[in-house]
Amino acid sequence: MGREALFINRVAILATMHQKDQVIAPILDNELGLKVMVPPGFNTDIFGTFTREIKRPGNQIEAARLKAEKALDITGESVAIASEGSFGPHPSLPYITSNREIVIFIDKEQDIEIIGQELSTATNHNHLMVQNVEQALEFADKVGFPEHGLVVMCEELPKDSNNIIKGIITEEKLVEAVNLVLEKSSTGKAYLETDMRAMYNPTRMTNIAKATYNLVKKINSRCPKCSTPGFDITRIVAGLPCELCHMPTALTKTVVYQCQKCGFTQEKLFPNGKEFAEPAQCMYCNP
Ligand SMILES: [Zn+2]
Ligand SMILES: [Zn+2]
Repeated sequence: MGREALFINRVAILATMHQKDQVIAPILDNELGLKVMVPPGFNTDIFGTFTREIKRPGNQIEAARLKAEKALDITGESVAIASEGSFGPHPSLPYITSNREIVIFIDKEQDIEIIGQELSTATNHNHLMVQNVEQALEFADKVGFPEHGLVVMCEELPKDSNNIIKGIITEEKLVEAVNLVLEKSSTGKAYLETDMRAMYNPTRMTNIAKATYNLVKKINSRCPKCSTPGFDITRIVAGLPCELCHMPTALTKTVVYQCQKCGFTQEKLFPNGKEFAEPAQCMYCNP
């Protein structure tokens, strides 16, 4: 079955209220022929907010899956897409902030779920407690304002959304918000943070686009046996031999692809194109 037969002109519901369709829709249309539609009035805030007044249900993938399932429920369509971002220390560079974006694709007709992702150190995710407008403007300068939006609130863990001023994209509004919060606050401080919602954060939008391309790559990876999309790596086997002493290292030697429909598996030896590891990576040659 060709790619066209599967997705050309099929409708995919995108669960977003943060204009993620601006980057996701053209990619899926150009690459797969999928027509992305956003259900009007879909409230994704019930699935958690970056500003923490509403907690996210489950982990990043579970939250995205819930959004996609909800979109399918309310529209009665069979294909849905949802994206979810998270910010935190980079898994292998603990002092550097990273942004992980996932884009989930669910096709009820074929009963498949495919997840594209991007892990990037390109993010302006940041926060600061300030005592005056000057400090706020200095922070704003550092985090790419006004192209990137800001949030101002009284405290780091807001109890309700009435005390959060989001989507600030002009200096005038920023000064107004900071003054308002400083006046109201019992501590004389205001808590500023970057607005991480996609439409207020072009850096994040770029990462969402990259995750979408990763999703397309996985959709186009077909099972050699039954041609179901999403033939993906499910297992990584370490043990790439050292070039000098031939002892196994912690580097990847083999990856295993598996079809989620028929279970067919395929091993790929030396997925990174190298048959040996540098002696510098070897615990015997370079302890
Ligand atoms: Zn298969
Ligand atoms: Zn060695």
